[in-house]
Amino acid sequence: MKLRTSLALALSIVACLAHAEKSSFVGGTLINPATSQVLENSVVVVDGERIAAVGTRKEMAVPTGSKWIDCKDKFILPGYIDTHVHFFQSGGLFTRPDVVDLTKVRPYADEIAGIKKNLPDTFARYLRSGITSVVDVGGPFWNFEVRKTANATEMAPRVAVAGPLISSVSRPQLDLGDPPIVKIDNPEQAREFVRKLAEQKPDLVKIWYIVNDEHPVDSFRPIVRATAEESHARKIRVAVHATELETARAAVEEGADVLVHSVIDKEVDDAFVKLLKDRHTILCPTLVVFERYGRTFANKLNLTPEEKAWGNPEVIATLDVTKIPQEQLPERIRTALANPDAALDRIKKTYDVALKNLKTLEDAGVTIAAGTDAGNIGTIHGPALFREFQLMKEAGLTPMQILQCATTNAAKLFGGETGAHTGKIDKSDFADLVILNSNPLNDIAHASDIDAVVKNGVLCPADQLAAVSH
Ligand SMILES: [Zn+2]
Repeated sequence: MKLRTSLALALSIVACLAHAEKSSFVGGTLINPATSQVLENSVVVVDGERIAAVGTRKEMAVPTGSKWIDCKDKFILPGYIDTHVHFFQSGGLFTRPDVVDLTKVRPYADEIAGIKKNLPDTFARYLRSGITSVVDVGGPFWNFEVRKTANATEMAPRVAVAGPLISSVSRPQLDLGDPPIVKIDNPEQAREFVRKLAEQKPDLVKIWYIVNDEHPVDSFRPIVRATAEESHARKIRVAVHATELETARAAVEEGADVLVHSVIDKEVDDAFVKLLKDRHTILCPTLVVFERYGRTFANKLNLTPEEKAWGNPEVIATLDVTKIPQEQLPERIRTALANPDAALDRIKKTYDVALKNLKTLEDAGVTIAAGTDAGNIGTIHGPALFREFQLMKEAGLTPMQILQCATTNAAKLFGGETGAHTGKIDKSDFADLVILNSNPLNDIAHASDIDAVVKNGVLCPADQLAAVSH
């Protein structure tokens, strides 16, 4: 199985067409969510890594000497961006021993070694899903190596990263010497940790603002403030995990630039909406992850056709909890299996609030960036984004709004020079494109009807990319 995967991957790399001096994508319908512009019978000229010109055939001629790529009846979009993934997690059942301890079935060190070895395959699955950039919102210090590797690999998305999470709680089960989550007890510790992180030039600093009886909202506020001050002094933005309304409000008040999940405990109020608008906070809802732990544990996993086709089959195989011997099943899975309806009911209640909040924030003009939290148990690296699109549609977002979330808004979350030149299709932007066979504006489900993906000017036909996953 492993051999077949790596062989197929090698094939797919060979199949992608190397940079032509210049190529012209001719005759397709160009959809530029940044401007809501739709150009029929378009020409997109790519020169090396960048877009050199965009227009209609009426306005401009196809440059002589450029490679002509016929896009008649196709739809051209900026490459998708998933703004919330974790490369230190596989998406499989053994990837979060702090949530369900199955280390007797698979030691956590083996899981991490497998994840590192499999990174080229994981990268390729993002491209297969039309995702040309991702933001890794927190992991061990080796995340910075992942960014370096991805950005030097042709068959990989562009990667922005945060380092280890500054957390209100500890997770010793994940500590193999380079922990992804670091408990910080006071503001001075927070400042010191930010200074250490800053040496690695993180794209974001991430805070894990977990609230419970022992850790009330206010006790961690000074740490959030110190983290934000120290980060902002170095021009680094701060992303905060906060899923309750009061936690999210506190996070933004103390300086969060990005909220990385939905508010799921209650409906957002006008003051919260105004706060996000005034501060230009970006919110990434990560709807899909809210159903995947519960559904996996209850043996009710609802993977989409895209996930089944393009997700890593070895990872997906681990998600069948019925394969684990009864006596090794952790209590949490045992309980879920005994009463799957209770698990599904909890998910429904979460979505009743989260989807409504998404619609409220979108309507109010808050910047929403699409993201999945891929890597968490049951949330599949790459194609999970299409389940996120379905849920955003259920929330009431239009196809164009969803595409904006996954391109131009997501590029703002990605940030930096790269973010400024991705997520849209304009002259001098990076040539990162998705070419579709059917119109996503008619139905967002068409967003996965991928004909080809262009990353950094390199054209990869989908049937060649498909070799990765079949
Ligand atoms: Zn996350």
